[in-house]
Amino acid sequence: MNTESSRTTATTSQRKNLPMCQHQPTCPSADSTDREAAHLVAHHPEQGWSLLCNGVLHFEDTGELLPDGRVIAPHRPLDPGNVVTAA
Ligand SMILES: [Zn+2]
Repeated sequence: MNTESSRTTATTSQRKNLPMCQHQPTCPSADSTDREAAHLVAHHPEQGWSLLCNGVLHFEDTGELLPDGRVIAPHRPLDPGNVVTAA
């Protein structure tokens, strides 16, 4: 009988389920105040969020969710120049 006992090696290491930045030079980390300068890896304007390559979820209202679970409150006022007023 041929038992499949050789598959036990792949499950031992802890894997983080985060996207890794593969840009050169490396983008700012999620801990950096410059984190928003990282590249977009996913953009869902219809849902109001973007995912940056450093693992930060960036929301349309400028709020952010860091990969370690911290929440950054929205820190930029909505652009008043975007308001369309019909005369
Ligand atoms: Zn990057």
